[in-house]
Amino acid sequence: MSNQNLLLAPGPVQLHPEVQKILSLPMIHHRTPEFDAILKSALSGLQFLFQTKNPVFMQTSTGSGGMESLLINVLSPKDKVLAIVSGKFGERWADMAECFGADVHRLNIPWGEAVEPKQVQAFLQQNPDTEIVMTQACETSTATAHDIQKLGEVIHPSKALFLVDGITAVGAYPIPMDQWHIDGLVAGSQKAVMLPTGMSFVSFSEKAWKKIPQAQCLKFYFDIQKEFSANKKGETLFSSNVPLIRALDYVIGRIKILSIEKHFRQLKRRADYTRAMTTALSLTLYSKSPSDSVTALNLPPSMDGAKLREHLEKKYLVTVMGGQDQLKGKILRIGHMGYITDNDLHETTLRLAQGLNDFGQSTDIERITALSLKFLKESEIQ
Ligand SMILES: *Cc1c(COP(=O)(O)O)cnc(C)c1O
Repeated sequence: MSNQNLLLAPGPVQLHPEVQKILSLPMIHHRTPEFDAILKSALSGLQFLFQTKNPVFMQTSTGSGGMESLLINVLSPKDKVLAIVSGKFGERWADMAECFGADVHRLNIPWGEAVEPKQVQAFLQQNPDTEIVMTQACETSTATAHDIQKLGEVIHPSKALFLVDGITAVGAYPIPMDQWHIDGLVAGSQKAVMLPTGMSFVSFSEKAWKKIPQAQCLKFYFDIQKEFSANKKGETLFSSNVPLIRALDYVIGRIKILSIEKHFRQLKRRADYTRAMTTALSLTLYSKSPSDSVTALNLPPSMDGAKLREHLEKKYLVTVMGGQDQLKGKILRIGHMGYITDNDLHETTLRLAQGLNDFGQSTDIERITALSLKFLKESEIQ
């Protein structure tokens, strides 16, 4: 076992070595020809990442700021909003909409399950005055993926806008914004976009743009019409986040060189690997609709999961996440986003196996080593 620190949380994620270098470059001013070119390239790169012909905007905020921006640029107080709540992040978005005065209807989904698009369709038929339907693409707290394509199909014919929190999806697996009738999409830097914390990215459909000028919610920093005007002049509305935008431009360029399909296959392979190792460790998956960006595994009921997580961090230098609220101490969540080598995957499995053994499991380390290496070899992407 090496003594290298491993960060396999579902955000923040490990950084590509080249990103680390870019982040340490000397600072330049954001109003320079050098930066103008980078900004232009990064903004168009984001359209590629979102798979949209509409402009994508960058904001210096965490992902939650992006969720707020997406919402308040199309929302008026008292608007009827259907919030799909399937975990912590769904709760947060519903709370946010309430905070801005929306008439929020929560569609509570049992944790670990995906929403049934028919439920949303039925709500819209009974409530044709619904202005917004919002959901996570992947509910990170339960490692569960929702069927965004199907949801888009049922929401599209109604007057409602379909807002999607893609913070652990955009950049991790396919979520083509235009093709799937998504009206508002948000991504976050420290998750699927493989950068440090500090930026969010949002985009709106044509249907959403019709609503933006009439949206009554107060906003200043997140005023997307002003941001759009600034972008048209080749600037951001406020000071540009030069280091992160430079790194963003690199990350998207790298995905383009590799091809986005291959990039997505790499993440899917990590998810497949983690699922296989979960079984090999005699554990089970928590989610009934597992995401390719993060995997949640059930711990044996007798085990104190919070202590195990801490033990893995202290003794084995590997950071994974536990569960929140009702899942506290019951699950482990392993992220697949960011810069992760095969060696990182293998090491994580071995350290996890040893940690579990310290807590009473009896996994044969030689056997798990062989299974892990075999999977990695046989699934190599050419
Ligand atoms: C992490 C996360 C957020 C919140 O992001 P912050 O950057 O912590 O504000 C929102 N939604 C989802 C699905 C996330 O995974």
